[in-house]
Amino acid sequence: MNVINEQIKSIKHRIAEACLKAGRQPNEVRMLLATKTVSPERIKMALQAGERLIGENKVQELRDKYDELEGTFHEKHFIGHLQSNKIKDVLKYGVSCIQSMDRLSLAQKLDQRLRFEKKTMDVLIQVNTSGEQSKFGVRPEDALDLVHEVSKFSTISIKGLMTIGLFSSEAEQVRRCFQTLKRTQHTIQKMAIPNVAMGELSMGMSGDLEIAIEEGATLIRVGTAIFGQRDYPDSYYWPERN
Ligand SMILES: *Cc1c(COP(=O)(O)O)cnc(C)c1O
Repeated sequence: MNVINEQIKSIKHRIAEACLKAGRQPNEVRMLLATKTVSPERIKMALQAGERLIGENKVQELRDKYDELEGTFHEKHFIGHLQSNKIKDVLKYGVSCIQSMDRLSLAQKLDQRLRFEKKTMDVLIQVNTSGEQSKFGVRPEDALDLVHEVSKFSTISIKGLMTIGLFSSEAEQVRRCFQTLKRTQHTIQKMAIPNVAMGELSMGMSGDLEIAIEEGATLIRVGTAIFGQRDYPDSYYWPERN
């Protein structure tokens, strides 16, 4: 068995253990493979091991890997910061969900393009739960308003929320981020806004997936723990906001 297979097995084990501890069923938690910097060959190995959901951060990588992944059975999410002028490409390269919807101007542009192409798109609202300046995402206290506004576009289906937890070895501080996302979900759910589903909570990565699962994650995004360390620093993928 190859390394990727083994790593996936070990992640599945971690998911199962965390679910057991949290009194949840492992099938309540889906795994997305965070495939930034990962070659199509290695992505295919993971798909052959039975995975089917991948996530890219950059349009450039969507483009570069598109042809080689054509014909393999998979679903693609966009999980990076999205500039309005790249929306066309995200549609072109078969993304089924944009997890990083974080501002009304982006939703407006997305709606325009979707109407032009007679398509629809699932999104998650990205919430900045860590309060770090460097992270994208709407502030938790502004999330409800954004959901309200985005829900008015009939081309866009909101499916839930996404966050990147604080990078910290302090488990309790990381946990607070995930609790904030859960609380935001509750607040929005109570409003019962038409055209808004809040079932999906995308949170938890290689280093903090157990905490995320304990706090209610339905979708975890795993990169390093499956594919190994990346050559680029994460700051390349999470540019400073300006
Ligand atoms: C890279 C990335 C991940 C995965 O991070 P790892 O620590 O490598 O598991 C998850 N979410 C987003 C948005 C990412 O950019």
